[in-house]
Amino acid sequence: MAKINEKKLELYANKLYRGDLARYEKKVERDDIFSIGSFFREEEKIRRVPVSKSQEKTVLNTHKNKCVICSKPYDKDDFEIHHINGNQSKTVTKNLVPLCHRCHKKITTTANAKLRDHIVKQGGKKPRSPLGPPEIKLLKFKF
Ligand SMILES: [Zn+2]
Repeated sequence: MAKINEKKLELYANKLYRGDLARYEKKVERDDIFSIGSFFREEEKIRRVPVSKSQEKTVLNTHKNKCVICSKPYDKDDFEIHHINGNQSKTVTKNLVPLCHRCHKKITTTANAKLRDHIVKQGGKKPRSPLGPPEIKLLKFKF
């Protein structure tokens, strides 16, 4: 199995974390969300701009047809294009890198954990109740 470059993993996880955090804070500011859970649910609804075939080709070429984290050679069955800052509506080649499934998952998991940590450490300032009861969040969404 291709060896993970821990430094690069950290680098891309941080870039994703910073992108997520910026969008998260903007949404909290506008009172669009009330918890990290609602943030991720809102992110699911974002208008995704799909990666075109030519963008995919460019991204693969730029990175020598390898996963940027573990250098695993391109494999059509184990290959994903990652949005570096996590913004799936910002589909431009400089915001994209090729990854294998395993590395993509690791980056996402690491970045999500960082975001959760950060929000929990903020301790209820903004959002007011990051770990509050789900009923309250649901009510807020309905009206
Ligand atoms: Zn990989």
